[in-house]
Amino acid sequence: MFYPEPISKLIDSYMKLPGIGNKTAARLAFYTIEMPDEEVTDFAKALISVKRDLSFCSICGNITDQDPCEICSDESRDKSTILVMESSQDVVAMEKMREYHGRYHILQGVLSPMDGTGPEDINIPTLIKRLQEDEEIIEVIIATNATSEGEATAMYLSRLIKPSGIKVTRLAHGLSAGSDIEYADEVTLLKAIEGRQEI
Ligand SMILES: [Zn+2]
Repeated sequence: MFYPEPISKLIDSYMKLPGIGNKTAARLAFYTIEMPDEEVTDFAKALISVKRDLSFCSICGNITDQDPCEICSDESRDKSTILVMESSQDVVAMEKMREYHGRYHILQGVLSPMDGTGPEDINIPTLIKRLQEDEEIIEVIIATNATSEGEATAMYLSRLIKPSGIKVTRLAHGLSAGSDIEYADEVTLLKAIEGRQEI
């Protein structure tokens, strides 16, 4: 079907989002045309802002609008424990629980030989450097997802970190296999962190 160029461009843009096919993209595009000017402008500004105003924390790799991020800058947080997570969305899930008071390291991915993602492609070198430089760290809790990539990443990190004498633990599997931490409920997360085991 023929669309005027501004519409087809918008449809193409929506189709780049995950889970959006051409029908949904067209529906969203026409919905956008109907939206009040102000809402569309706010929407466009929000899109630009997430790219312009956010960066990765130079310490923990979390997405932030200040560097170091709010958590790394918070002197009241326990400096002895680092919770290693796959994504910034996982951190949000963990923070909602309000039971973890240590710090984080966000890998921004997992090891995945299938996709060609190796240790250098995610925040593993920065984690190792951090562990070498920060003598206050005594435990690293690996909280990657219970997927095969998440497990492989946990094992890889454990082998890498253990010789340094830092305790390495893994979240207990109240989390079902293949599950995403991002979607786990708070009770499950709390049980997983309380029942963590050394690996
Ligand atoms: Zn940080």
